Amino acid sequence: MAKKSAIRIALDLETTGLHAEQDAILEVAAIKFQGSEVLDTFETFISPGRSIPYRVQRLTGIKPELLVGAPPFDAISRQLHTFLGDYPIVGHSIPFDVGFLRRWGLARSNPMVDTFELATVLLPSLSSYNLGQVAHSLGIQVPSDRHRAMVDTVLAMQVFLSLYERLQTVDLALLQDLAHLDGPRSWPLLHFFRHELRLRQEHDGASNLSRGILGDRFAAQLGMDPRVLSFAIARKDDAPPPAPTALPVATTAHIQEAEISAEAPFGTSVAHEAVYEAFEQRKPLVVEVTIGDNDYTPVLLSALRWLNEPEGETGTPRRLVIACANQQGARRLVSKTLPTLQNRLESQLSVAYLAERGGYLCAHRWFGAALRRTSGELTAEQARGLAKLGLWAQQTLTGERGELTLLPQESAAWERISSGVERLPSADPRAGSIYQRCTYRRKGLCFVSLAEERVKNARIVVTTHAGLFDDLSSSHSLLSGIEQRVVLDSDLLDEENARWSGAEFRQEHLLNLLNTIGAELPTGRYQGLLALAAPSLRENGPGGISSTPTVAKAELDQRMLSWFQTLRQARAAVEQLFKSFQALIEDAAHQGNGKGKGEGAGRSAGSRSHERLDQPLRLTSQSCQVGAWNEVEQAWKQAAHRLQSVIDLARQAEKIILAPQKNAHKEKGSGEDSSLASELAAAAHQLLEQKRLAEQALSLGESESVYWLRMPPTPVSHAGHQRPGQGPQTLSEPAPPILHTQLVQTSALLRRLLLREQRGTIFAGTALSVDGSFAFTQGRLGLESEQGLTLSIERPHHEQTLLYLMDDVPEPNVPQYQRHLDETIMQMASALEGQTVVLFTSHAALRSSYTAIKPMLEARGILVLGQGIDGSPRNLWQIYREQEHVVLLGTGSFWDASDDVTISPTCLIVSRLPMPVLHDPPIAARAELISDQLHNLTVPMAALRVRRALNKIAWHNDKRNAVIMFDKRVVSKEYGAMVLQSLPRCSQRRGGASRAAESVLDWLTDTGSWE
Ligand code: SF4
Repeated sequence: MAKKSAIRIALDLETTGLHAEQDAILEVAAIKFQGSEVLDTFETFISPGRSIPYRVQRLTGIKPELLVGAPPFDAISRQLHTFLGDYPIVGHSIPFDVGFLRRWGLARSNPMVDTFELATVLLPSLSSYNLGQVAHSLGIQVPSDRHRAMVDTVLAMQVFLSLYERLQTVDLALLQDLAHLDGPRSWPLLHFFRHELRLRQEHDGASNLSRGILGDRFAAQLGMDPRVLSFAIARKDDAPPPAPTALPVATTAHIQEAEISAEAPFGTSVAHEAVYEAFEQRKPLVVEVTIGDNDYTPVLLSALRWLNEPEGETGTPRRLVIACANQQGARRLVSKTLPTLQNRLESQLSVAYLAERGGYLCAHRWFGAALRRTSGELTAEQARGLAKLGLWAQQTLTGERGELTLLPQESAAWERISSGVERLPSADPRAGSIYQRCTYRRKGLCFVSLAEERVKNARIVVTTHAGLFDDLSSSHSLLSGIEQRVVLDSDLLDEENARWSGAEFRQEHLLNLLNTIGAELPTGRYQGLLALAAPSLRENGPGGISSTPTVAKAELDQRMLSWFQTLRQARAAVEQLFKSFQALIEDAAHQGNGKGKGEGAGRSAGSRSHERLDQPLRLTSQSCQVGAWNEVEQAWKQAAHRLQSVIDLARQAEKIILAPQKNAHKEKGSGEDSSLASELAAAAHQLLEQKRLAEQALSLGESESVYWLRMPPTPVSHAGHQRPGQGPQTLSEPAPPILHTQLVQTSALLRRLLLREQRGTIFAGTALSVDGSFAFTQGRLGLESEQGLTLSIERPHHEQTLLYLMDDVPEPNVPQYQRHLDETIMQMASALEGQTVVLFTSHAALRSSYTAIKPMLEARGILVLGQGIDGSPRNLWQIYREQEHVVLLGTGSFWDASDDVTISPTCLIVSRLPMPVLHDPPIAARAELISDQLHNLTVPMAALRVRRALNKIAWHNDKRNAVIMFDKRVVSKEYGAMVLQSLPRCSQRRGGASRAAESVLDWLTDTGSWE
């Protein structure tokens, strides 16, 4: 007889805020259920004994009048306690709700089942994990009056039941892996998985689950972990898959010139000629496409037409690389944009995606040592990340990281199992690289080699900027032979270069690497890769790997003990080095404050000056004049020596593990011992890269890169589990400084990788021309001004957008500026009843306006939401679409967050020109190479950023709207004209702040264009 389901309680609270310690409960709803049967319900309003914040009223619909006569919490506490019993409590981000109950002494020991955690694991590719989104993806109808407690409780119960059903389809071996993840005991999913495993064992019989000892798992004949057969890639046809073949090449000679003109989308006919010329003559083309949103149709359509032309004399099919800024853009291209455009052309050219280095799941690592305990217990986020990867690994056909949604804290899990080091030569040249000796690859189960095959066979290869840089800088490039390239989002190449070339030298990372190689625990036992490999590494050892994650001293020989001692010394040297970095920052700050070392500027915590400690300290030839430099030099000498010793010992260990006599009984390249060798090689390689970075930085010599030290922001620890994206924060101990580096000039990189040979390279972007000239962008791209073609395709906006220029407000940096800005925002928001978005250039300015305008606007029924205060840009845009009467305040990524914009605002206020900060080390290093920084760097950068923001936010759709340039400098300064003339044509009006609202209302209710 089938066992009855467990009884559980679904629960949701509405509260006055996010902090269990200081906020109050407004409403409680709970459902007792068993399977899909509802046994009982509990629902009540609670009198909070305080006012309800306006934001909460708007988002929950709970107004003070609803709470008249509601009981205080202590009046219902006993009844709720009885209702809850000791049943498991289910809910979305349930630790948040339970945190409130525990403050009242309730639910102290009830197990929790968090549907948020469960969804992130079981639905690894969702773009968002809020309750509505999760329910929607599971096919559950989401009521329109969400956010009230009972509605959300019902939804959470349904989501749980649906996810639970999915969990039943997870195979037993994987469930066993999930239940044995090395996560903390406090991680609620661990209990849940273990409970489910017990149930499954009782139901199926434990014998079915026994997977045997490690040796069994690595059946010698197979040479791989048999669990790989549960991967979708292996199941696809129950045999190692053949190399994918490209789709048939379309014969498209039927595409006629006439099609280009009459029905062609805006700008296509003008793009057509330039694209053909660039491709045919193999020269660069810079093309600006400002037609709203992130639409590159004119360029892409023309490029596809060229690609569809019959082959030339060589008879080789034409091929094309398309690179865009990020993975989301690349996925959109592959899944949506290119199929739509190909349909239009009736073409069927094969498309393949090439990920960045480290962008694929490595099966060898997944089944090897990467998941074993090497450096201590996993955090809850790492455990969740690995659980998510476990499920995804069984479903994916591509192994691409881009398919996954990994929350920032989960990324560490990916680093344990990603590709990226497979081409490294082995310490023993006879063993070949990991790639060469990998059994998974030979059996057709390596995602990297499958992707390479797809790329080789595809006519169109889509990648990201970083993917393109990775490939072109590698010795086995797949893309260098493709002569035509379209680089979309070229206006973001600097940012992407910064991401690609940027690196950090941080204490935490170095210590983690050292601990991963090996560490002695306080218990006197040893752990890490060396401990796992102890049987293979011992003189006359039996070979193979240790079956426990930690080993006793007795299992190590003298050589291994000396290795662990070297690791201990390296850790001490690294810590000393970072202390010296901190001393350098402090001394530099003192010197900057005019207090040289020795003038009472001691380093005791009490006497430190903290004024400039959060500023970056650039490392230049001048740095050796700072008092603590000698200390840094000495510490580095020691650390470099110790790190090299660790690199050497890791390489030596790798060689011993791979030595033929140790592994004579096994197929070369198979099993966990080979995996251990790969992990050691990867760790040694990373240490070497880190050492080189510091060596370069501390040499203080000439370089293409800029180096700087910076104290990280004081870490915040979350007090208890919070709703995703939100949370109260408590300050923690300051972390040691971080050494950063980045390439100074994107142009140098592009010249080296993209422009070295004569190629037809099209650089397309939404903001590339300044005051009608492409010279600034050409310089950034490494192009000579006479080299190649330029073209601007822009949709006129004079009938859509009014650009209102303030001419009577104070300039930024004048004390009254902020007050005037706040007044303008309030006037506009009141006149339009919300419908306003304001762009700031700093979080401090945003918070200042937020505090000033919120009370007055809320009194008028307008909800004010600030980025970083009320949620991420995506959350805020979501609310903006769903709710009326909303004002959004954004900064930073908000300017460029094209993927998040859901609807163009009626009024966009640009509070201040986004000039780059000149004391930011990469900008400072660039500025040093330029004369007249104002006209040749800061103003052009600001102008392009405004143009890009308008294209993405104001012209996301074609609704009539207004843009207010609140920064008076666009009319008062001579360089203001450069900014205005860099924007596409809008209707324009110049006037005082007091007339702005009236002018905007006139514009919105009028038709046609103004002056
Ligand atoms: S070839 Fe490299 S990336 Fe592929 S499975 Fe083997 S080790 Fe991993």
